[in-house]
Amino acid sequence: MSRLVDVRSLAVEVAAGNGVRHRVVDGVSFAVDEGETLGVVGESGCGKTISTMALLRLLPDSARVVRGVVSVAGVDVLAAGEDELIRLRGGVVGMVFQDPSQALDPVRTVGAQVAEAAFLHRGVRGREALREAALLLEELGLTPPEPFLRAYPHQLSGGQKQRALLATALSGRPRLLVADELTSALDSVARAQLVELLGGLRARRGLALVAISHDLALVASIAGRVVVLYAGETVETGPARDVFAEPLHPYTVALLAAAPRAAGPTGPLPSIPGIVPRPSEWPSGCRFAPRCARAFDRCRVARPALVEVRPDRSVRCFLHADDEARDG
Ligand code: SF4
Repeated sequence: MSRLVDVRSLAVEVAAGNGVRHRVVDGVSFAVDEGETLGVVGESGCGKTISTMALLRLLPDSARVVRGVVSVAGVDVLAAGEDELIRLRGGVVGMVFQDPSQALDPVRTVGAQVAEAAFLHRGVRGREALREAALLLEELGLTPPEPFLRAYPHQLSGGQKQRALLATALSGRPRLLVADELTSALDSVARAQLVELLGGLRARRGLALVAISHDLALVASIAGRVVVLYAGETVETGPARDVFAEPLHPYTVALLAAAPRAAGPTGPLPSIPGIVPRPSEWPSGCRFAPRCARAFDRCRVARPALVEVRPDRSVRCFLHADDEARDG
């Protein structure tokens, strides 16, 4: 498989007022091959969303990338001009964010919004664009499609809105879909249906998928690879099956232990003590040290590097490699 996305040692700063800037991402690395599904996991505040927004330079005005490499379909995103970025946004990478109510235009029909994406990215217009939109809605389970083409977002249920948003993202025929907490607002039935739908879409279209989620069960069910983020940095990455079967980083171990299980031992789940530190409060050594049951003296003074400790498995922890981080 050829590489579609390559993010290395990414660092992003955000203006915090009075001329102060904070690093909110500092040391994120991950890659996605054509047709592959990558799960991006970690607690809130670990940098999942901002790292993926940097893929298309969609960061808020207050944020800027200060270091790293971001390559999408062979394009150096950090150096790309506006025309190249427009081609990438929607034409190569489709994005679906958490809240479809905010992402869809409330005063335009679903059909107009899906057809517009086909025009913007592929020059398809008029009846042909509407015909394509109808086929896409049908493929996404909004059948018969005609009433959905004419509907306004407020006339749809949460699950239907999510599918309409997916249609706008897929209308440009992207090679990669980025889905941010796609199922978090859905009930368990709608969630299972959407996961099945995504599996079918990927198989039919050869689509790569980046699924950002705090839901480890969801990621385990769809991802081929996983990247675990903690306090703005990648702490572990590898094939999902291997990472879930044998997590190496103590944070991944704790996340898995704290994940709700459909079956298994009863009784309270263990929780991870403490909270993710704010960027202004990142410790100078290992950022997980204050919460890590296995921390030792060196962890509190030196920051571990992300090291490939086995073929295709990288981890940032002194228990597995001695290397210290220099620039991510
Ligand atoms: S480097 Fe030390 S503190 Fe950090 S995760 Fe590994 S054992 Fe825990």
